[in-house]
Amino acid sequence: MSDGYREMWKELGLDLERHDALLASLLPVYQEVYLSQKNRPKSMGYYDFVVSEIHGLRVKELVDFRKKGGKVVSTFCLYVPEELVIAAGAVQVGLCGGANTTIEYAERDLPRNLCPLIKSSYGFKISALCPYFAVSDLIVGETTCDGKKKMYEFLSRHAPTYVVEVPHKPNTEHAKMLWFEELKLLKDKLEELTGNKITVEKLRNAVNIVNEKRNVLRKLFEARKARPSPISGKDAILVTQISFYDDPRRFVEKTEELVRELEERIKNKEGVVDEDAPRIVISGCPMAIPNWKLHHIIESSGAVVVAEESCTGSRYLSIESINANAKSVDEFLRAMVDAYSNIHCACFTPNDERVNDVVKLVKEFSADGVIHYNLHSCHPYSVEANKVTRALKEKGIPAISIETDYSQEDVGQLTTRVEAFIEMLKK
Ligand code: SF4
Ligand code: SF4
Repeated sequence: MSDGYREMWKELGLDLERHDALLASLLPVYQEVYLSQKNRPKSMGYYDFVVSEIHGLRVKELVDFRKKGGKVVSTFCLYVPEELVIAAGAVQVGLCGGANTTIEYAERDLPRNLCPLIKSSYGFKISALCPYFAVSDLIVGETTCDGKKKMYEFLSRHAPTYVVEVPHKPNTEHAKMLWFEELKLLKDKLEELTGNKITVEKLRNAVNIVNEKRNVLRKLFEARKARPSPISGKDAILVTQISFYDDPRRFVEKTEELVRELEERIKNKEGVVDEDAPRIVISGCPMAIPNWKLHHIIESSGAVVVAEESCTGSRYLSIESINANAKSVDEFLRAMVDAYSNIHCACFTPNDERVNDVVKLVKEFSADGVIHYNLHSCHPYSVEANKVTRALKEKGIPAISIETDYSQEDVGQLTTRVEAFIEMLKK
C-alpha cells in the first residue's frame, strides 16, 4: 500500500505503529491463504487489489466523500437495511470484526468469555486500528444477540452509536409493527444525520442498487453449484466480505465480470479442484474479514467449500429483492420489514427454518457434508448446533460441529478433525 496514505491515517487518529504491525501481519497470511492457490479465476485480481488497499483507496474515497459533506454510516449486521442508508445519501460500510489482533484491547473493557467477533469489532475502535471506524459519522447497531447489544453501550462512549430494536419473534404481526416503527425511527435518524429527506425516488434508486448487489452475489452462488467447482470457497467468501464495504456499483460491475469468467469455466469443465473433491457446506456464525481460518483448513485438506449458510453467505441472499415500484415511503418500509424478516439468524426464535435452509443448500450444491461453525461464547449458534447437526444426520447428511475462535492455537486440532471428516466423506 502506498506510503502516501500515512498522512491520512495520522489525520484519522490511527496508532501508526500498531497499524504498521497490523498491515505487515496481514500480508503473509494473504499470501499463504489466497495467493498460493492454483488455477484461480483471473477476475479475482480485483479483489486481491481491494485487499491490498484495504485501509488505503476505499478509505481515501470515504474521506473525500466526507470532505464534500457526505456522511458514512457503519453497521455490523444484515438487519440494518442498506437501502435506507443509501436513500439518505450516505455511504454504508460493514465494520469487520474478523481479526484476532484487536481482541486484547477489547478485553480491557469486555469480558473474555464473549464471542471473538464482538471483541474484535470493539477492539478495532479502541485500539485506534480501524480507519473505517475513524471515518464513521454514525454506527448503527441492533438488538440481535445479548453480547453485541451490551457492547454497543460501551461503544457509544467512543463513537456516535444508534441501536435499532429488532424483534426476536420476527414473523408475528406485532413484531412486524414494531419493526416498521423502528425503521421509521432509523429513517428519521438518517435524515437528521445527513440533512437529506428520504423520498420515494431516492428509495427506488437505493433499492435498485442493493437488489443488484444481492443479485450478482446470487449469480456467484449459482456458479458454485457446478462440478468441478469453478471457484474456491475461500475466494467466494472473500467476494462476499468485500461486498460489505466496497462501492456497491463498482462491486456489481467487477463481480459481473467474475461471474462471466466462472460461466466460461463451467462450460469448459474447468475447476479449482478435481471433480470428485468432497463438497462442503459451512453453516453457522458469520465470518468477517480477515477470518478465513475454517475455509483454509477445509480447502487445504482436499475438499472445497461450495456454500455458506451464514450472514457472509446465503443468509444475506435470503433477503429477497424489494419491489422498486412501491408508491410511498411507508410502502417501501413495509416491503423492507417483509424482506428482512426472512433472515434465519439464530438470535431469533423459534428459527426452525434454518435447518431447512441448510438441507436445501446441501441438495442444491450437491454437497457431501456440513460443518457447523460456532464461534466460542456465541450462545445462539451453539444452542442451535445440536439441532442442526442432529436434523442433518437424521436425513443421512454427514455433519460435524466445531467451535473455535480467531487464534491459531487450535489449528492443528481442527485440521485433524476436518481431515478425518473429509476422509470419511471420500469412502
Ligand atoms: S448472525 Fe444474526 S446477529 Fe449476526 S450478523 Fe447475522 S443476522 Fe446479524
Ligand atoms: S457470532 Fe454469535 S455471539 Fe457473536 S455477534 Fe454473532 S450472534 Fe452474537
